[in-house]
Amino acid sequence: MLEVTSIKKGIVLDHITSGNGLKIFNKLMLDKVDYPVVLLMNVSSKEKGRKDIIKIENRIDIDLDFLGLIDSNITVNIIEDNKIIDKKKVKIPSRIKGIFTCHNPRCITNFDDSAFPTFKLVSEKHLEYRCDYCEEITSYKL
Ligand SMILES: [Zn+2]
Repeated sequence: MLEVTSIKKGIVLDHITSGNGLKIFNKLMLDKVDYPVVLLMNVSSKEKGRKDIIKIENRIDIDLDFLGLIDSNITVNIIEDNKIIDKKKVKIPSRIKGIFTCHNPRCITNFDDSAFPTFKLVSEKHLEYRCDYCEEITSYKL
């Protein structure tokens, strides 16, 4: 078994689909932080064969909708005093606020700062979202 420093207080992102760990690491800009972070790739997993894990030695605010959009398999474990005190499953968000921009270049959200882009999920399989303003479909790509 792989020996990994356990964390006293922080967040562990577990069950990341193998291969997504680095993308999430970069999206959360964990290469820029000044507290300990660990990215584990291709760890063996009972359920899935292989998985990635990210350990963050700090209680940062993570946008669960954003994680769910990238990888809906993730479990977020909150660690306090070396113990898991909370566990959250992420899921594909049914509504999105401002994580991405509308695909339609003429959409008001792309040039009016007071029109904040919001979307409603139309296809889980293709991660397609409909803009609340112009109804254009935007599909999210990692
Ligand atoms: Zn739009």
